[in-house]
Amino acid sequence: MENLLKIGRMAGFALEIDFIVPSEGVWRRYIQVKVEVDVNCPFVPGFPLERDHLPDLWIHFKYEKLGNFCFGCDLLGHD
Ligand SMILES: [Zn+2]
Repeated sequence: MENLLKIGRMAGFALEIDFIVPSEGVWRRYIQVKVEVDVNCPFVPGFPLERDHLPDLWIHFKYEKLGNFCFGCDLLGHD
């Protein structure tokens, strides 16, 4: 839980964590972290996860419920 809060803090102020286990059809479990973000700043796309004796692994954040979001400059307010 502490590591999940650290990951959530990379995207913003972590408020809540849910473990999502789809009931059928999808085999992947995932974690949903509710964060408070400053919408005047670009969204954090993810982070490199350091691993022992292996190259870093890029962990990509997926944001939900965004309004007009620009994938060019990672800001809200236009698309
Ligand atoms: Zn833009």
